[in-house]
Amino acid sequence: MELNESMVRNVVQEVMARMQIDGASQGMHGVFGTMEEAIAASKKAQKVIRDMTLDQREKIISNIRKATRENAEIIARMGVDETGMGNVGDKILKHLLVADKVPGTEDITTEAVSGDRGLTLVEMGPFGVIGAITPATNPSETVLCNTMGMLAGGNSVVFNPHPNAVKTTIFTIDMVNKCSLEAGGPDNIACTVEVPTLDTSSVMMKSPDIQLLVATGGPGVVTAVLSSGKRAIGAGAGNPPALVDETADIAKAAQDIVNGCTFDNNLPCIAEKEIVCVDSVADELMHHMIAEQNCYLAPKEVQDKLSATVMDEKGRLNRKCVGRSAKKLLSMVGVDVPDNIRCIVFEGEKEHPLITTELMMPILGLVRVRDFEEGLKTAVWLEHGNRHSAHIHSKNVDHITRYARAIDTAIIVKNGPSYAALGFGGESICTFTIASRTGEGLTSAKTFTKKRRCVMQDYLCIR
Ligand code: NAD
Repeated sequence: MELNESMVRNVVQEVMARMQIDGASQGMHGVFGTMEEAIAASKKAQKVIRDMTLDQREKIISNIRKATRENAEIIARMGVDETGMGNVGDKILKHLLVADKVPGTEDITTEAVSGDRGLTLVEMGPFGVIGAITPATNPSETVLCNTMGMLAGGNSVVFNPHPNAVKTTIFTIDMVNKCSLEAGGPDNIACTVEVPTLDTSSVMMKSPDIQLLVATGGPGVVTAVLSSGKRAIGAGAGNPPALVDETADIAKAAQDIVNGCTFDNNLPCIAEKEIVCVDSVADELMHHMIAEQNCYLAPKEVQDKLSATVMDEKGRLNRKCVGRSAKKLLSMVGVDVPDNIRCIVFEGEKEHPLITTELMMPILGLVRVRDFEEGLKTAVWLEHGNRHSAHIHSKNVDHITRYARAIDTAIIVKNGPSYAALGFGGESICTFTIASRTGEGLTSAKTFTKKRRCVMQDYLCIR
């Protein structure tokens, strides 16, 4: 076999990654040299988990909640330092949210049917060893909520994390395993490899010991798991529009949209990525965003420079811009703004590259539309059929209902910031794996279980 330039580059990259990571993985629980070793260890741990009582599983989960709270700042800093994305303050909040609102074993319930011919129970059992692929945008958050939900369901998990977030992932995996050991559980409830690559991912996808795949990431990885021949849950990309109509509380809409959009520098897949606003209130909305929400109004030449900087001519994102602050992005195109500037805003056509692309940056383009009807069509077009998340600011229940039906997303937030959907200032659970493509929606323990029917003929009906 002849070596070509690309093969040499791959080998050099892998050696460099290994040199960087070796230090981080020394003595860490759940970290293995090969994917085969990680899967074997996970299989062993799952056999122990399988026989544990729900109470024992809950003790481990409770330890994970405590450790997440105690280490929230450390992990948040580690994630920002390693990936260069997001901000420490919001990442701390995300970890506290995970600690408080990711469900445990209480999420799993039993169905019962009884009658003349006895009793049938439908119980939710574990799949076994789950293979999970995690993103660079919420690396530790995803590892934590996946581990808690999967463990509650009786599974163990092997992670193939994003190569840019390995150290943060390894730290988090070590932490959850220590939580298990402290609670009398097994080591390796969550495992990973020292150097995750597409090859280790492929070993995981093909392994007969992996019963379920869960991918949290962009379209490439979701398509890969759905093509694997195994059962797969796909939590894919979004491009959530925020639609504002003439009945909305405009000052509040401006505040909610900018708060949601700038949370962790726009990294969450659910965050507002563009605004669609009816003409009669568009100027007012823009005024509130600039005057009250510390937004910078980008003129045409700055928009053009940003387009050329944050993506290439094929629309591929510049990773050095993803999850960066508005001030940092503006400094990259030679614009100096005060530290309090939170978001970059401008008005443009729906086809504008900064509007139609899922940027994951605090850049909000506003598309002006004649009326709600045009707004509805425009927002549906901008969501690109991802069926992920969409937001609306309106007091007209007919508009809200029609929008929700037409856009057909896993998440729709009405009159609030997008993060209300994660239980932050809104009701219900938190997760960072939102199964948009495959339809499970916000994943939790019950998502990671399978139905098992248990029948007792003729007895145990006492009606
Ligand atoms: P990414 O798609 O670049 O990477 C995600 C993960 O998939 C990484 O571990 C990566 O190594 C792996 N990967 C990518 N292509 C692969 C392939 N062909 N085969 C196997 N593995 C592959 O995404 P990212 O930059 O880390 O995260 C941002 C993207 O993820 C955005 O599109 C965002 O919307 C999406 N996301 C979705 C959710 C959700 O819950 N729906 C949550 C977080 C992020």
